Amino acid sequence: MSFSSEAKKEIAAEMPDKLCCRTAQAYGMLQCGHAFSTAEISLQTESEEIADTYDRLISRICSIPRPVRDTLRRRTTLHQSRILDPAHRMAALEHFGHSAGEVSLRLNRANLDCDACARAYLRGAFLVCGAVTDPERDYHLEFALPHYNLSRDLLTLLREVDFPAKSTTRGGNYIVYIKGSEAIEDCLTYLGATRAALEMMGVKMVKSIRNDTNRRINCESANIDKTVMAAGNQLDAVRKIQETCGIGALPEELQTVAKLRWENPELSLRDLGELMEPPLSRSGVNHRLQRILKFAENLEN
Ligand SMILES: [Zn+2]
Repeated sequence: MSFSSEAKKEIAAEMPDKLCCRTAQAYGMLQCGHAFSTAEISLQTESEEIADTYDRLISRICSIPRPVRDTLRRRTTLHQSRILDPAHRMAALEHFGHSAGEVSLRLNRANLDCDACARAYLRGAFLVCGAVTDPERDYHLEFALPHYNLSRDLLTLLREVDFPAKSTTRGGNYIVYIKGSEAIEDCLTYLGATRAALEMMGVKMVKSIRNDTNRRINCESANIDKTVMAAGNQLDAVRKIQETCGIGALPEELQTVAKLRWENPELSLRDLGELMEPPLSRSGVNHRLQRILKFAENLEN
């Protein structure tokens, strides 16, 4: 099951306690579903749980029989719920303060009663027209609606409850979306998909550890390359001195370093310094090795 379906399933499993909030959720599901007009009231969803929630809520809240359920075989299996009787459709519209002759579908604020009703409405809307991208791929949560004015109302409502929502269009739909992992985690938690929000945080953490590790490995191997290169040059210099004038030609304090480097080609400067008596700092060793390199260079002239 996709990340989005999991999140929706989690939201669908919980029902608001208060009647006003259950009404607001039913309103969100009806209004943002497939169709909400005198000609057609319907929902199409891949999730049987969401179709069940829709049927149950709407018949109870509007006091009408359960919508008729069909299964549509498209690219995926869709569960379709429809209110077939025109009188029942009218009852549902009127229950939420909508009339037959409305030109454009708007959010009727009279259906949002208590402080928690906005949340309930948004839960209903997300269940029927929302989606959230798998955090492994991207951070994106959206509501897709065919009605422009309703999409503006949804945008306003999301901003009122402090989500940084934006809008765009895609294939004839109006998209209201939220970007950014933290805002999406907050939104999922707000809508009641706590497990999905936690999963998202987990994925994010693994991603960041993976990135850090890669960065560190790259950095370490670059350092190792540098160490190996430097040691190679130092060994070449010592060999050259041995072959031309002998190590004894070096000043005394350089002879020890030259010998230690020759015997321990793999050691870091710090470790080389610790072999000295008395021990020498990393920069002290480096300084002496630079002088050895210089000495070898001058032998050519
Ligand atoms: Zn309420």
